[in-house]
Amino acid sequence: MADPSPAGAPRTAIPLSTTPPLRELWGYARSHRGQVVFASAMSLFNKACDIAPELLIGAAVDVVARGSDSFVASLFGIDDRWDQLVVLAVVTVVVWLLESASEYVAILNWRYLAQTVEHEARMDTYGHVQRLEMSYFEDHTSGGLMAVLNDDVNQLERFLDLGPHKLIITAANVVFVGVVFFVVSPLLALLAFLPIPVIVAGSLVYQTRLEPRYARVRAAAGTISDTLTNSIGGMATIKAFNAEDREQARVDADSRAYRDSNREAIRFSTGFNPLIRMAVLVGFTMTLLVGGHLALDGTIALGVFSMLVYMTQRLLWPLTALGETLDLYQRAMASCRRIFGVLQVEPTILPGAVDLAEPVRGAVRFDDVHFAYDVGRDHVLHGLSIDVPAGETHAIVGATGSGKSTVVKLLLRLYEPTSGRITLDGQPISELTFTSLRGAMGFVAQDVFLFHGTVRENLTYGRPDATDAEVRRAAELAEAATFIEAMPQGYDTLVGERGQKLSGGQRQRLTIARAILRDPAVLVLDEATSAVDNETEAAIQRSMEKVSAGRTTIVIAHRLSTVRHAHRIHVMEAGRVVEAGTHEELVDHGGLYAALWRVQTGETGAALAD
Ligand code: ATP
Ligand code: MG
Repeated sequence: MADPSPAGAPRTAIPLSTTPPLRELWGYARSHRGQVVFASAMSLFNKACDIAPELLIGAAVDVVARGSDSFVASLFGIDDRWDQLVVLAVVTVVVWLLESASEYVAILNWRYLAQTVEHEARMDTYGHVQRLEMSYFEDHTSGGLMAVLNDDVNQLERFLDLGPHKLIITAANVVFVGVVFFVVSPLLALLAFLPIPVIVAGSLVYQTRLEPRYARVRAAAGTISDTLTNSIGGMATIKAFNAEDREQARVDADSRAYRDSNREAIRFSTGFNPLIRMAVLVGFTMTLLVGGHLALDGTIALGVFSMLVYMTQRLLWPLTALGETLDLYQRAMASCRRIFGVLQVEPTILPGAVDLAEPVRGAVRFDDVHFAYDVGRDHVLHGLSIDVPAGETHAIVGATGSGKSTVVKLLLRLYEPTSGRITLDGQPISELTFTSLRGAMGFVAQDVFLFHGTVRENLTYGRPDATDAEVRRAAELAEAATFIEAMPQGYDTLVGERGQKLSGGQRQRLTIARAILRDPAVLVLDEATSAVDNETEAAIQRSMEKVSAGRTTIVIAHRLSTVRHAHRIHVMEAGRVVEAGTHEELVDHGGLYAALWRVQTGETGAALAD
């Protein structure tokens, strides 16, 4: 399952959202509008304070040059130049303090907001992914989904962190400085503003050109995440087949593709700043020359001229930083499309609204069930009917690939039948809540899965409130207690990712104990003892007789000896039940089961002679 996929195996790309990402993001951040407005106001106030020092410089020059005729003198009615400078100094200190304080509050709010949105985006996406049906996970690689949940969500945060603050102060800057310019000299204002339309138009052109480039970068990031997850998951296979070089080459190819797509985007986005600088140069030179001319003429005062030269710097330089913010913005939007793309996938298997009456009896019925894993593909089940009355133990046997595991996956509603009916206690399972349906089942899957954690955490996965005594009892019934207690940390032993620190048989016994501990109405065991030795299997079977007494039990097994005492055995062939009955009836019938039985007793006759 975790083996590396052959090179070039088709992968279904993460679907992209088609609606404009910014609009979706805004809708998404709806619940935080108050904070957005507050932070924006703080950013604006901060910018206003930030511009003031330039005005103060102009005023200071004005004081020195014009004395009692200065702007400050007329505003405050102070004649003495020194006193005027002291007043200016006080104003400067206040403004600087306000600037620092408002910057702190603004940035803090924006950054907190970025963290909140990042967290919520990740939780919503993960929550959504959890509701999608199994077929989605079969069509999309876990690495690709990981890239969305991790990289793309981070990329969004990187822009939200300071991007909006920077955009607001840049825009506010243009407005504030523009007002000052127009008040002082409309002609100079016009000259200083000359480059701005060029810069804005240039930015928009850049943006549209950058978008597909960053979409390619994000796709490449998804691919490499895919390859890495796949390779690391299959490390034992890589080593066993001496495939290290091949895997190295595969990661190398994907990493190169990522590097190249990023380089391509960087090459393009880095060209933005020099271009803007050229536009800035034009505006700056114009103010210098024309403004200087006006000052020499005596049309404008020296103080005003010096202020305007500074102001032109102030007006235009911040625009050069626009490139960086736009870059982050485009990267974030490419990520947004992927995040919202996942969020837009609708789950097709939805829970019903009915809760089963307690206690659940556990009567399971399949009625003419047809099923195909993919639309348009061959059916795996063709009109399957199985009736398991409450409390009985039924077995499903048959050749590999005949559809046995599929039957129990349908019972858990991991997949939906194409047609037919499946009921639990007479209720169609499609009408039941997942809590009711899956809560009634104790499932031991054919491909055993344990979480990284302790033995106890894994055992109590289906019943986190189980007591130690209950955990022990379940472990004993599954013949797991002895080996667990023999381990140095006992129930606190870490099992490793996917339980890889345990043997195959130990893993199986833990999953049996985990299912028993749930005390379910229906116990479903899919090849649960295939990896244990005969002696352990016999012991587990004795325990299972106790466990399954009065409980509906569905057992799938290849070794027929394990199910010969079942109330009824259903023999499957190519998606149909071809024979059903007790062991004795089926042997007497002389059909498929009888043939299988002869083969198995022939092979293992000594062990079965009871
Ligand atoms: P085994 O005894 O080997 O466990 P089984 O009887 O349990 O076999 P199933 O796992 O039910 O067989 O598979 C039945 C058929 O469905 C097989 O042909 C298999 O290739 C196909 N199949 C199983 N799972 C999927 C899936 N997720 N997507 C597509 N096809 C699948
Ligand atoms: Mg199977």
